[in-house]
Amino acid sequence: MRSTTCKGSNGQYLAEYHSQAAASLAAGETEMNYGHKLTPYECRACGYWHLGVVKTKLQCMQCTDSGLFLKDLYPSRAEAQSTADHLRKQRKIQLYPYKCPHTNGWHLTKRVPGKGRQ
Ligand SMILES: [Zn+2]
Ligand SMILES: [Zn+2]
Repeated sequence: MRSTTCKGSNGQYLAEYHSQAAASLAAGETEMNYGHKLTPYECRACGYWHLGVVKTKLQCMQCTDSGLFLKDLYPSRAEAQSTADHLRKQRKIQLYPYKCPHTNGWHLTKRVPGKGRQ
């Protein structure tokens, strides 16, 4: 269900849920399908539940992936690696961290980075 009162930061109306359980379920599905971590919160404006981003998600404005989506940016190699580990378990895909050529952050790629050096 879409809220008719509350908009997200992108100007779209937020999805609304009438219980925390329903919101949690939807958050789990979103994570499974898109790899985005969302957390349910009770909205003070409308009294229903919305999903919010757990922590501000960084995106690189310079790099796009093969689908031409902006690539997620991770502040450190460790952070990128932990996300890669998580995705490997959740979605059975193997990703490798690499340093963004434009910023100080890290991205994940499906390509095996140059061998020999770690
Ligand atoms: Zn609301
Ligand atoms: Zn980048």
